[in-house]
Amino acid sequence: MNIEQQIQSLRDELNQHNYNYYVLDNATISDFDFDIKLKELQELEAKHPEFFDANSPTQRVGGEVTKNFETIPHEYRMYSLENSYSKEDLLDWETRIKKLIDGDIQYTCELKYDGASISLTYENGVLVKAVTRGDGFQGDNVTPNIKTIKSVPLKLKGDYPEKFDIRGEIVLPFEGFIKMNEERIEIGEEPYRNPRNTASGSLKLQDSAEVAKRPLECLLYNLTGSNLGVNSQFDSLEKAREWGFKVPHAAKLTNSIDEVLEFIDYWNIHRHELPYETDGVVVKVNNLQQQEELGYTAKAPRWAMAYKFKAERVSTKLNSITYQVGRTGAITPVANLEPVELAGTTVKRASLHNADQIEKLDIRVNDEVYVEKGGEIIPKILGVDLTKRPLNSKPTEYITQCPECETELVRQEGEAQHYCPNYNGCNPQIIGRIQHFISRKAMDIEGLGGETVALLVNEGLISNYADLYELTKEQVIPLERMAEKSADNLIQGIEQSKSIPFERVLYALGIRYVGETVAKKLAKHYKSIAAIAEASEEALVNVDEIGVKIAESVRAFFSSEENILIINRLKAFGVQLEISAEQLIGQTDILKGQSIVISGVFESVSRDELKKLIEDNGGKVSSSISSKTSYIVAGDNMGPSKRKKAEDLKIVVIDEYEFLQKIK
Ligand code: AMP
Ligand code: ZN
Repeated sequence: MNIEQQIQSLRDELNQHNYNYYVLDNATISDFDFDIKLKELQELEAKHPEFFDANSPTQRVGGEVTKNFETIPHEYRMYSLENSYSKEDLLDWETRIKKLIDGDIQYTCELKYDGASISLTYENGVLVKAVTRGDGFQGDNVTPNIKTIKSVPLKLKGDYPEKFDIRGEIVLPFEGFIKMNEERIEIGEEPYRNPRNTASGSLKLQDSAEVAKRPLECLLYNLTGSNLGVNSQFDSLEKAREWGFKVPHAAKLTNSIDEVLEFIDYWNIHRHELPYETDGVVVKVNNLQQQEELGYTAKAPRWAMAYKFKAERVSTKLNSITYQVGRTGAITPVANLEPVELAGTTVKRASLHNADQIEKLDIRVNDEVYVEKGGEIIPKILGVDLTKRPLNSKPTEYITQCPECETELVRQEGEAQHYCPNYNGCNPQIIGRIQHFISRKAMDIEGLGGETVALLVNEGLISNYADLYELTKEQVIPLERMAEKSADNLIQGIEQSKSIPFERVLYALGIRYVGETVAKKLAKHYKSIAAIAEASEEALVNVDEIGVKIAESVRAFFSSEENILIINRLKAFGVQLEISAEQLIGQTDILKGQSIVISGVFESVSRDELKKLIEDNGGKVSSSISSKTSYIVAGDNMGPSKRKKAEDLKIVVIDEYEFLQKIK
């Protein structure tokens, strides 16, 4: 054996031992012998740097230091999951999806692991990158840290696809968590609060050698990519297992919601025997073609549903109620609680939502209240322990004036929230609006953070987002914690935001109810801010998916002289207030007013491409067939009940080639 072969054989052997130990939980070598072999490999590699391999088992010990994690886009979006809490919720879900797909439905049930989600990309059987979930569209590149986790295979076995992403959860099992805490207590440091936060914190440690010391695990649950050679969720889990991934064996294929409920009942009890935290069950439509037919909502797949185990609850005293003002002027009452331990964290505050909620639960200061922590970060109050109510207690009187600027609050009919109407003069609104303007999905201004915005407003340097574009370096340098370099970055970041495309600028303006999706719709339809500003409420409502509430809010925004002034200034500074020529390329009105249903599997285009083509040409993609459907573009395997419905309603079915011809 030559040196290279010797090195390779040691690597293979150590990889196999890692796999046996960390994935199969079945060690076949003593720690001592493992260490000897690892040392041997390290020495050989040190002597022969020409055979370096970033995926060698020696690289698991870490050592690479990352100062700033690079943000990279996910090739396939990482969606969130819809939640359910009861049998009824699950049955409702089944009813909804049965309307959209044909045939019997099988479900894969999996546990919902409580950790930090991660997306791993493999090419030719080698791990090439690991990215955190981030906002679902882009995340942080944490590859050096993930490589230190021994249950993440650096090289795959068997018959894997050339390129794919695999998603999973990084968890910190209880045992390792407890041990870490014992060590921390011994050196006089505060113990960590809970395994989940510690796991997600670990991913962002700068020194990967530190991460290597933490007993993290990676549990996989989803395969993403094209030409993966699998037909169902359950198969994909089995395949992933064959390639060397750790896929928990709890996953089960079931034939009905009743069987799903059995799975839930079983794990509701037995989850406490698992070595790591779980907070529910994820139910997924098993057949991948059915999954495709179901598609996604704006946030989550229609083909999956999380079932949350009942959350823990405790009772504690409500010390006071304070009121926060959001960027839209919405007032949120906050309960300040006597600190109490709940599900591994100390809870001090809880949201009370709005005046109705307080009234409905009759929540009063000094009450003993029940607090529950579900999936959300802020816990909620479920009710009051009336047996402990003090005798002199009086019902809560909701505030009538803004706690920040003392303006009389208003509450529009049908709205749950009170608002401070002092749009342009109320500090938290001004700050919040500018913070929204600069945020990642909006103008994405690098070098400017939320705290600096607050500082700039409080120092009187800016009072709306147009003012940003007049800031000078000399003005910001005197600010706290602002050095020459950071001032440069700030000014440069603002300058760069002038090239952000119109749809994002429209979103950045912070018009109430105009979120990302609506902004895109409006930008596409009207193509310029001037056209939107002139559009009547009626015209707006006629735009697809724009309701009365949105239309009213858009009208209100553009009927304010102050807003018009700000927009004119933005225009003068060179901010994009219309769709650019490049964006217009390939866009037509050929399919205007048409509602088109896509069904089946296609040869020459992907479903997503097809959707984009329809939308770019002014059409609307609809997920179910109705009398309003203009026609159906069908590929292979269009379901029989869809076909029947199309026939009954006499709706034309065309294939992809006919469709492509239409838009030529
Ligand atoms: P949520 O954060 O409540 O929207 O829940 C969605 C998250 O659940 C996903 O981003 C995953 O990180 C996590 N998750 C845990 N276990 C699973 C599983 N078996 N299948 C899908 N997602 C899971
Ligand atoms: Zn106010």
